Amino acid sequence: MKIIKQLLVASLLLTNTQLLAADIPNFIIILTDDQGYADVGFNGSKDIRTPNIDRIANEGTKFTNGYVTYAVCGPSRAGLLTGRYQGRFGFDRNPHMDPTDVTSGMPLDEKMISEVLNPVGYTSSIIGKWHMGSHPKLHPNNRGFDHFYGFLAGGHRYFPEDLIYKDIAEGLNQENPKKAWTSWYLTKLLENDKRIETTEYLTDELSNAAVEFIKREKDNPFFLYLSYNAPHTPLQASQEYLDRNQHIPAGKRRTYAAMITAVDDGVGRVLATLDELGLDENTLVFFLSDNGGPEKKNASDNGELRGGKGEYFEGGIHVPFAMRWPGRVPAGLEYSKPISSLDIMATFADLTNAPIAKDKPLDGVNLIPYVTGENKGQPHDVLFWRNFDKGIIATRRGNDKAILFQKNKHGQEHLYDLDNDLSETTNLYKENKVQFEKQQQEMKAWNNKLADQPAFKGLLMAKKSHEQKVKAYNEQKKKQNKKNKK
Ligand code: CA
Repeated sequence: MKIIKQLLVASLLLTNTQLLAADIPNFIIILTDDQGYADVGFNGSKDIRTPNIDRIANEGTKFTNGYVTYAVCGPSRAGLLTGRYQGRFGFDRNPHMDPTDVTSGMPLDEKMISEVLNPVGYTSSIIGKWHMGSHPKLHPNNRGFDHFYGFLAGGHRYFPEDLIYKDIAEGLNQENPKKAWTSWYLTKLLENDKRIETTEYLTDELSNAAVEFIKREKDNPFFLYLSYNAPHTPLQASQEYLDRNQHIPAGKRRTYAAMITAVDDGVGRVLATLDELGLDENTLVFFLSDNGGPEKKNASDNGELRGGKGEYFEGGIHVPFAMRWPGRVPAGLEYSKPISSLDIMATFADLTNAPIAKDKPLDGVNLIPYVTGENKGQPHDVLFWRNFDKGIIATRRGNDKAILFQKNKHGQEHLYDLDNDLSETTNLYKENKVQFEKQQQEMKAWNNKLADQPAFKGLLMAKKSHEQKVKAYNEQKKKQNKKNKK
């Protein structure tokens, strides 16, 4: 019966998007930023309490082998939002902030979830962190999002009194280049193309906007991309949230926990709003973090996983991941076969019959048949990762994780049996060269499908030229001071 209804909905979508709006599923992605694998209750956190985030896992499916496609923010989000390995289109770095550079961000010929769902009648909103480019052509409103409430850059300060610049250009173009760097953390928020004055702690602002969007669009099929920048640095939490974490000794970990408490409250409000409006059973919600926790930087905890943000050991790419769709997705299920953030787009596209361009194939699969048990196979025979600048390629085939460090930082070849050694302590390469060779062949074939070069210079390269500017500025100041003394 459900399948028939689904087909009916899909066929109606093609003819009239209004008719059965109430039956067409809404989609919500709740993304956190730099949250550690072990920092949710559903993955066993002892000190960080996430009762609302846990509802997504407990009332839905928890993925114990959920991956993102890259170990830092920008490229990971590019994979999530297109459902394609971002290396295919050269999104191999964090984009640099430059509103005059249209190449720095999501290429215009790639389609994001919002752009795919738009033609089948969805209203889309991104609330929070964008990070897909700051050129006007790359602005969310020009990329299929009907609504945008947040900021364009890869991070932000959390207290409203810190937000002083009217836009990224104002921060970047100020006289002192020292202050220009990361000035984008200090821009006022945007609602669509309007600068707005805010009064609340940033995470609360974003949660408020999410609740308002759902209420406003309750009668239309909607896609909400709730892209929290918490708990990314700077570690800043309001007193209310700190007070609720007094069981954790004062310090970085308490502040980090307090930032997650704010997110968890927001998730609770989103779920309560769905419930109040009777949208619960008609809304598919995903929760995940965009990459592993940088444990030293933000006091996150990746648990038994090795490494963290920026690395291709599990700690960098294996993230807290859950989905909830009451009545459609089994409750309380633990799904352990490897899945990817790439699957989110594929799931949405499949459920709505949204057209996908043949020359831009998706790399994910619809997860629903896998979690319902209809399909007992593996969603992915193999998953891949590439860090172009570091020369790292990794694959997971079944339980075999292979990493090739082409620049030899950790030794050239690594092979781990994740079933018995999730912490990647024992490199089995020497005993299993044949297996490694097989995975290496796959890596090479996959890598050949990707762009030869990154599509833009990226944040780290921009930082180098910025440092030169600072040096020149300082020298000029010194000269001036000497002159003044004379
Ligand atoms: Ca991140």
